[in-house]
Amino acid sequence: MTLYRPSPAHIAAATRGADPACAFLHDLDALRRQAETLRRPLPPGVDFFYAVKANNDPRILQALAPHVSGFEVASAGEILRVREAVGPQARIVMGGPARTADDIRTLLAQGVERLHVESLHMLRLADAVAREVGTVLPVLLRVNLTGPVPGATLTMGGAATQFGIEQGAIPDAIAILRDCPALRFEGFHFHTVSNDRDAAGHAALCAAQLALARDWAATHGLDLRIVNLGGGWGVDYADPDWRFDTDAFARALFPLPDAAPRVQFECGRIVAAYHAAYLCEVVDLKRAHGRAFALLRGGTHHFRLPSSWGHDHPFVVLPRAAWPHPWPRPDITGERLTLAGELCTPKDILARDVRVERLRIGDRIGFLMAGAYGWDISHHDFLCHAHPQRLFFGAGPDGSAA
Ligand SMILES: *Cc1c(COP(=O)(O)O)cnc(C)c1O
Repeated sequence: MTLYRPSPAHIAAATRGADPACAFLHDLDALRRQAETLRRPLPPGVDFFYAVKANNDPRILQALAPHVSGFEVASAGEILRVREAVGPQARIVMGGPARTADDIRTLLAQGVERLHVESLHMLRLADAVAREVGTVLPVLLRVNLTGPVPGATLTMGGAATQFGIEQGAIPDAIAILRDCPALRFEGFHFHTVSNDRDAAGHAALCAAQLALARDWAATHGLDLRIVNLGGGWGVDYADPDWRFDTDAFARALFPLPDAAPRVQFECGRIVAAYHAAYLCEVVDLKRAHGRAFALLRGGTHHFRLPSSWGHDHPFVVLPRAAWPHPWPRPDITGERLTLAGELCTPKDILARDVRVERLRIGDRIGFLMAGAYGWDISHHDFLCHAHPQRLFFGAGPDGSAA
């Protein structure tokens, strides 16, 4: 089980020459172990892709490449990023709404192995572009389920969202596919929920989706080669030591070895969340209207996740002995306080009214579980504050320092 907490050596590396400190710290060895741990319970023949949108840093992609089946991308930019970081051999599959003809040209030119089609128009567009290029493009139909899906934090399907082809329109999509000679139907795609913490419930959802795919294939006489069951394996930001039970999930979903169709997953958050921390120095302490605040070098322009989810992000206090000033060092002891960033907006909050034993100006806060949907989803240049350092620890694939 991997949960990265900044070690004294890593803190020293992050604070050398940076005053006050502000850095993302990544442990690439822990990241690799996490990918292996997630894959281990899956039967042979199941693909486990990494969803690049969770964290697209080239060092993350390079570290993961030997430990995942390939990469799931959702833009032409992500295709190029994977090719640049990992090279021409990496397997890539592409999904996402709002595809353009240029996206499909890039996908074909870059050897992406399959497109997950999200609308009837996208089917016709992909067929037209593949015809123009003179090739046949393998596709999965992405489904937006009819029924509501309980339990997860974010819902992409089983609800009124912009994702996938609604279940009732799947027969229409299959009919259109018959007029698309440059597309090869290979199966169905479901990414219905994100951050599902119920492994048994998630296995039941996946089993139902697999059954639906088999039914459609039988009804319409289709050769069902692949069912992609998306990502969505959960983490718990309120309990960093909690883990999605991948063993129970795999046992429930794969009671017997099954050769066809080939099952695929494409997980982001559970792969990338745990191996990184976001370190911020406390630059001021104050009280207002009876509440205590710590002001940090950093904030939601680097790490928007807690404000986007409206949660208190888990953290550890990293005390620091040194105090360079001649005046007394301010501190707050045994109270609740709010961790605020350096932006001029009351929304720049990373944790609200949380209890700390003791916090002094000059101490550091290490936000845990900061590797997924952190830096990548944030508005880095709002207010023109200096970007954080980004440090990657752990030997590279060839044994060199990353
Ligand atoms: C975001 C996304 C994923 C990854 O989801 P996680 O919840 O991070 O595992 C997988 N597939 C699609 C289509 C996505 O949009």
